[in-house]
Amino acid sequence: AKRTGRQGICFFTSAVQQRAARHLQLVNALRYAIERKQLHVVYQPQVALRERAIIGAEALLRWESPELGNVSPAEFIPAAEESGLIQSIGAWVLREAVRQAVRWRAEGLPPVTMAVNLSAVQFRNTDLPKLITRILQEEGLPAEYLELELTEAVAANDPQGAIAMMNNLHERGVRMSIDDFGTGYSSLSHLKKFMAYKLKIDQSFVRDITTDAEDRAIVNAIIQMARSLGMRTIAEGVETIEQLSYLHEHHCDEIQGYYFSRPVAATAFRQLLLDGAAR
Ligand code: C2E
Ligand code: CA
Ligand code: CA
Ligand code: CA
Repeated sequence: AKRTGRQGICFFTSAVQQRAARHLQLVNALRYAIERKQLHVVYQPQVALRERAIIGAEALLRWESPELGNVSPAEFIPAAEESGLIQSIGAWVLREAVRQAVRWRAEGLPPVTMAVNLSAVQFRNTDLPKLITRILQEEGLPAEYLELELTEAVAANDPQGAIAMMNNLHERGVRMSIDDFGTGYSSLSHLKKFMAYKLKIDQSFVRDITTDAEDRAIVNAIIQMARSLGMRTIAEGVETIEQLSYLHEHHCDEIQGYYFSRPVAATAFRQLLLDGAAR
């Protein structure tokens, strides 16, 4: 028994050590990722169902590290948050995405709103509104073409702080959307005070929408609620025509997902805009 116990402890320690080592490795590599040009941004179209047109792009980070390979943002964003590196990485993504939106506008392509994800750490930073206004001015993008995505969990975690920050950004003309909606337990009384332009229905509800009656009920309720509060809805993770049809019939405003396009490089997104919207 003693031997297995020791082996157990040994195994446990090494698993924890492995995780700590991986974290350190990530943070160390991430520290130089910007200056070594290992980060880039890909764009996924947001398609308006009624207009059948691309009206937005979500900017999503990609990291190609020579040492670690392609690391998923689901892994490196948390490491960037814990280490504080998210402030500089987040500012870099914002500027990069805004710059890209300006380029597409300058080329005369159909106008798209640029949606950028905000981490909890960025959102709590009281300098965020100033940073955003500065980037918009320096790059030359009208504020209403920028949309900031904040997860429902972050908003629900500190509703008063979220209301104040969203108000501030709203006054500056920037749009806000609530990401992963339906998973974050925000209260309805707070929801109406969030100056949100759009609710993003979490992809976990969209996945089985054609087969699961409960998921359907949740999605319908979110759409109805958003409409009565004057907010738009977008469904994430739409992969099939059946999901799209259901959402269209139930008055969801927009979809985003592999059905229309995976997140793609700026040049490929430009081609999507040129080819003209959805079918
Ligand atoms: P998210 O904001 O919920 O982004 C949506 C994720 O779903 C993206 O994963 C996207 O590639 C993926 N996706 C889009 N359509 C489909 C589909 O039809 N099916 C499936 N199965 N997945 C789809 P990605 O790019 O790996 O990003 C993961 C998460 O990492 C994001 O979730 C977001 O929370 C975070 N993230 C990515 N870029 C940034 C960033 O620049 N800043 C911050 N703070 N977080 C970011
Ligand atoms: Ca998002
Ligand atoms: Ca999401
Ligand atoms: Ca998510």
